[in-house]
Amino acid sequence: MPLIPIIGLEIHIQLKTNSKMFCGCPVNETETPNTNVCPVCLGHPGVLPVPNEQAVRFAVLLGQAIEGTVAENSKFDRKNYFYPDLPKGYQISQFDMPVISGGHLDVSVPGGARDRIRVRFVRAHLEEDAAKNTHVDGFSFVDFNRGGTPLLECVTEPDLRSAEEAKIFLQELRLLIRTLGVSEGDMERGQLRCDANISLREVDEKGAIVGLMLNPKTEVKNINSFRNVERALLYEIQRQTKLWEESGAPQATTTRGWDDIKQRTVLQRIKEDSADYRYFPEPDIPPLSLVEISRKILQLMPELPEAKRFRFQEEYGFGNADVRHLTDDATMAVFTEQVMSELSEWTGEEVHGKMAKLVASWLINKLGGLHEKISAENFAELMKLLAENKVTGRSALTILEEMKASGKDPSQVMEDAGLGRMDNETVLAEIVDRVLEANPTEVERYKNGEKKLAKFFIGMIIRETEGNADPETASRILHDRLSK
Ligand code: ZN
Ligand code: MN
Repeated sequence: MPLIPIIGLEIHIQLKTNSKMFCGCPVNETETPNTNVCPVCLGHPGVLPVPNEQAVRFAVLLGQAIEGTVAENSKFDRKNYFYPDLPKGYQISQFDMPVISGGHLDVSVPGGARDRIRVRFVRAHLEEDAAKNTHVDGFSFVDFNRGGTPLLECVTEPDLRSAEEAKIFLQELRLLIRTLGVSEGDMERGQLRCDANISLREVDEKGAIVGLMLNPKTEVKNINSFRNVERALLYEIQRQTKLWEESGAPQATTTRGWDDIKQRTVLQRIKEDSADYRYFPEPDIPPLSLVEISRKILQLMPELPEAKRFRFQEEYGFGNADVRHLTDDATMAVFTEQVMSELSEWTGEEVHGKMAKLVASWLINKLGGLHEKISAENFAELMKLLAENKVTGRSALTILEEMKASGKDPSQVMEDAGLGRMDNETVLAEIVDRVLEANPTEVERYKNGEKKLAKFFIGMIIRETEGNADPETASRILHDRLSK
């Protein structure tokens, strides 16, 4: 019977707060170990943790964005385990009353087996990060700078069915948290960490799942990039499929780690019974009431990526792929809207269709990322020059390069460099004549039937005018002259 992967993710999001989860130590990446520390995050006896209100707000904001339920009352718990990166001997986390329950994120998977998927969330809870251990030459070191950093742990339902779906979901989640401003979400820098739970299930010929129970899963840890999310899952799907074919469904849950160098997963633990963490309520932190905070935050909700994509399509008529490019980066999206608004002021109507396509293609293919020296106003002006046929595409590129270098406005650059489009018939006719006079052999061959030489002449004319000749006018004059 064919098998399909059943995948769920556990994601730790490092929240973009100024200070740590339960103390006033700054959260920043300093080179010097053990400088952002205090008695609270070092777990000294007798100190009192105080929850970071910004972290709570961020958690509530994300919860509302995924349409989860924000708990009216929430509390913190101690998760007990012993490890050198945990000075208190327990992590302050949340057990049975997480800040957020439920919720979902809808994701498009273009060209996938399912082009639209809904990934449900089980919960999202606040906790503190552990310190960082490093092992050098047989010695182990602990850096407590990271210890106590606010994390939001999100757990999804096993709703994903392929490695690609998992990667695309995670990218959409990152876009969401960036849009909300709750995290930078940079996986390489550990701001977004992902563990993947994966098992296989049998399906019948119609693709329907056989049986009622999930099979024992493998938990893959230590995945540190989007590329590796996909690779680790592809590897695991292949490995589990082979085992299944040899000896049927697995009997035990296992934990494996992704080895980035060997590009494979490595067994870490077999049959990990949910270790007994002896969770109990954190006695030093009073329960949180989130009703008031939740009401206030709902009013601060920005436009979410999905809504923005929809609006860009409706309002400007951008194509699907263009919309992705223009909205994936928040600053690019703002820049695009400024350019479009400048242009609609100029045309006196909504900019749509052909003009919008031109702008999108220049923003995506020619601008190549935002430049501090190019304002939306100047970029819009360049688009105007193009739309009015005052410059050729080639000259516009030259102008754009100069704008990047000097920050001048495009009309200025155009005049300074004499890059205005040359469609003055008399001037152009003179140049055509000059080119024809300079190449008598080619003219003879053309007249004897080698019509493809027209391209050669046009090329010469364009070169003569340093790219400014309007190709259509030039071609008309050329054919006129050659037919005589
Ligand atoms: Zn501290
Ligand atoms: Mn956790």
